Amino acid sequence: MQKNSENLISILVTGANKGIGYGIVKMLLEKAHLSNVYRYKIILTSRDEQRGLETIEKLKVQFGNSDYIQNKLVYRKLDITSKESIEECVNWLKAENGPLDVLVNNAGVAFKGPEFNTNVFDVTFATNVFGTIDFTEKILESNLIKPLGKIIIVASSLGNIISLSTGRQKDFKKENMQVKELIELANRFRTSIELGTNEQEGWGKNCYAVSKMVINKYTQILSQRESILSNGIQVYSCCPGWVKTDMGGPKAFRELDEGVICPVYLVELQHMLDMELQGKFFYDCKVKDIGL
Ligand code: NAP
Repeated sequence: MQKNSENLISILVTGANKGIGYGIVKMLLEKAHLSNVYRYKIILTSRDEQRGLETIEKLKVQFGNSDYIQNKLVYRKLDITSKESIEECVNWLKAENGPLDVLVNNAGVAFKGPEFNTNVFDVTFATNVFGTIDFTEKILESNLIKPLGKIIIVASSLGNIISLSTGRQKDFKKENMQVKELIELANRFRTSIELGTNEQEGWGKNCYAVSKMVINKYTQILSQRESILSNGIQVYSCCPGWVKTDMGGPKAFRELDEGVICPVYLVELQHMLDMELQGKFFYDCKVKDIGL
């Protein structure tokens, strides 16, 4: 793995002011705090600056404001649904940080309750799909992932295409699909909501689940891209399980510390491309079939 001049592994986490993103940062800092083996520089990002800076302060208090935390935990504002915000973050990385070893695309949204309409699609897909893809592609266009680096997407087991009709599953299984085609497929779901034909077209009525199916497919497509493979960049998606966060709610089965085990496992996986694992979906640190 290529390291920066201070020999640190540079990791950017999106949506890290709370929930699983925060938990990932905290677990990585705990490891770095306990052992010199883990030499991380962590870029904690959030769409709201105040919420992000408060989280940084909270972590500094928890870790005793050590030199390590002072210097190696960095904050950047990043709203992945805003082109300007993505551009600012990319420009900052170019000027101040350099390429990342690991990008963790964690930011996500989910509506509570059964509401289902094009607004739910627009809000859900803006972050979970279009924003995640836009940010990842801008990072890649600017060569901001190091050779042998990683891109990890926090998706969900609900992103298993099994809940779609056979015809829609076939659409998702198409080999050599391009990102443009995937976006068109996502937009077909939106049109079906508009026309009220989503059930008869085999989409069902869960925007969050379909958004995670689309981002799991993106993971697979990206993982096989020539420029990704030639640079030895690993690409994975994963599910944290049902976790007690604002999104997961208080009835969820897993505590935050349990929910971050799989994403952190992927961050720490050896920086070496393994085609058996490339582009796969992970649950409980193991590859899981999601129908793709
Ligand atoms: P959460 O507590 O609601 O946290 C979501 C995080 O994403 C927050 O920091 C939020 O920022 C941020 N975010 C939302 N939209 C954003 C945007 N446009 N740009 C940047 N950041 C944005 O949810 P969570 O449970 O930690 O979820 C994290 C990830 O895990 C999501 O992708 C989710 O789908 C996935 N997941 C969660 C569960 C679960 O049971 N919790 C299960 C499966 C998968 P604000 O604070 O500003 O809103």
